[in-house]
Amino acid sequence: MNESLNNTTLKTLIDKLHKEQNLSKDEWVTLITGRNSELSEYLFSLARKEQQKYYGTDIYVRGLIEFTNYCRNDCLYCGIRKSNKDLHRYRLSEDTILSCCREGYRLGFRTFVLQGGEDGWFTDKKMIHLIQEIKKHYPDCALTLSIGEKSHESYQAFFDAGADRYLLRHETYNHQHYSMLHPESLSAAHRQQCLWDLKEIGYQVGTGFMVGSPYQTAEHLAEDMLFMKELNPQMIGIGPFIPHHATPFASEPAGTLELTLFMLGLIRLMIPKVLLPATTALGTIHPKGRELGILAGANVIMPNLSPTDVRKDYLLYDNKICTGDESAQCRRCLETRMKSIGYQVVTARGDSLN
Ligand code: SAM
Repeated sequence: MNESLNNTTLKTLIDKLHKEQNLSKDEWVTLITGRNSELSEYLFSLARKEQQKYYGTDIYVRGLIEFTNYCRNDCLYCGIRKSNKDLHRYRLSEDTILSCCREGYRLGFRTFVLQGGEDGWFTDKKMIHLIQEIKKHYPDCALTLSIGEKSHESYQAFFDAGADRYLLRHETYNHQHYSMLHPESLSAAHRQQCLWDLKEIGYQVGTGFMVGSPYQTAEHLAEDMLFMKELNPQMIGIGPFIPHHATPFASEPAGTLELTLFMLGLIRLMIPKVLLPATTALGTIHPKGRELGILAGANVIMPNLSPTDVRKDYLLYDNKICTGDESAQCRRCLETRMKSIGYQVVTARGDSLN
């Protein structure tokens, strides 16, 4: 943070972003490196204005079902990477997944998110059956997939089976930075191509990145903003990087609350109608992280609907919150938390206006 940079200049940049919903790479870098607490407060007040203009004080909830922690990939930051041999691996059966949806529906969820590692056991055929079953039982609900990089053909087949949305964070736009976070078998270009494929097929698409991932610079964040502006997704998920003890990044520092909130505010001004979660990772690095995320411009929360006995095995990072709570407890807790800051959790699909 740089308190010495002239706040009038920085506020002018925020006003420009508010008005034009875009900045140049240099302007993004200036804002991100020059940020300070006074500027953040100014940004958040405008971000809340935009959030409330489109979504009022409604907070959409997504029921997250972490259905497999098997993964063929070896991302350097991720606790469920295939090299982590200390992890108890699990897969939920179709019946268990459907009972998570049943409980979720009873609790007022109208969006289910199936998230998992890239697990070859769940073939396209099995996924298609699962998608069809969920949509047959809950036709009024949206179904989101978050199962990584697949072929255009597979994405199309899941869409045809009834999947509505797809979450695939681009992680970092910069190709060199991407290669510092991932094994050689993965590339930024392929990840980004997947996002364009998903968009072209007709999914409501979510992308995003980790804030404070190892080697990340303000230039990288600026490139992330430019990429997201171009992609124009319906959802953007960002959260702080948090180290996991069994990964090569075990000793790297976590991303900060302060920078994550600042990026949330900037994203709300850049794409005002975007659906923006206050993530579990944000709630993990600060006890009031999710509330502060909403007050910085976020409007979605994604509580866990996974069975309690597997939650401790879906640890992408250390100290993840809510791993011991029942779904109903999580739902009630979030309702109270949102009320405490003047927002309310609503029972709705919560489609994007973008
Ligand atoms: N396999 C799917 C994929 O690749 O998109 C979905 C699961 S993946 C574990 C979900 C997200 O978790 C990733 O996109 C990444 O940004 C986030 N994540 C993984 N490890 C993390 C860490 N150590 N700290 C914060 N977020 C992390």
